[in-house]
Amino acid sequence: MMRIDILTLLPEAFIYLNYSILQRAQAAGLVDIHLHHLRESATGKHRVTDEPPFGGGGGMVLKPEPIFTAVESILQGEQMNDHPIILMTPQGRPFTQSIAQELSQHERLLLICGRYEGVDERVRQHLVTDEISIGDYVLTGGELAAMVVVDAVVRLLPGALGAAGAAETDSHATGLLEGPHYTKPASFRGWDVPDVLRSGHAGQVARWRRQEALRRTWERRPDLLLTAVLSEEDKWFLGQLAAGEEDT
Ligand code: SAM
Repeated sequence: MMRIDILTLLPEAFIYLNYSILQRAQAAGLVDIHLHHLRESATGKHRVTDEPPFGGGGGMVLKPEPIFTAVESILQGEQMNDHPIILMTPQGRPFTQSIAQELSQHERLLLICGRYEGVDERVRQHLVTDEISIGDYVLTGGELAAMVVVDAVVRLLPGALGAAGAAETDSHATGLLEGPHYTKPASFRGWDVPDVLRSGHAGQVARWRRQEALRRTWERRPDLLLTAVLSEEDKWFLGQLAAGEEDT
């Protein structure tokens, strides 16, 4: 079973983990998620977790001592460097599906959520082993970012999704965007589901899906085609798309 520890000043925010696939994965014993309130590791009467920055300027900075104490206590008895200790930060490496896949291979993960102006630099220098950003924008705290990472990682754990292999064709899992989906009714307001999907011909359906994934990626994220693994048939199809574009 994978274990995920999350260090935060706002454990209440993690209610999202109690629903749907994340809830079922925990109930099925695929993942064990522990929330730790940073304030509990702070000392003194007021359990202070943040102070103004040295050198002045606005905002508050999370103090190093409670964070070091919490992480050392959570990983008690473990080699500190055996498990990723991840700081959520807009300055981290940009989160992708392949990082989610990489993290899903670990037995244990520890995520640290920042707040205010962020954490004391010594946490970054001497405690964390990884820094992840969920995008080029600034959130108020690391909680939403941690939930994004946990969600993306947990759905990759074997058995987490109902249908085996469902995660394998998701957008980005194959290096491409996934093609369109349709469900009942077969005709809605005169808009019909493509015939091939109702043909019952598994080979033709698979070929259509692959081509639609290629088409969608070509139209929306051509940059992904530079690194996707492509067969000769894929390359031929992309050639057709390119030729079609030249004709118009
Ligand atoms: N002053 C910091 C900076 O400019 O890099 C930003 C601090 S932000 C207001 C507070 C916290 O939210 C950060 O410490 C981090 O934990 C989290 N956070 C904000 N944006 C994030 C992002 N894009 N990805 C991951 N975490 C983020």
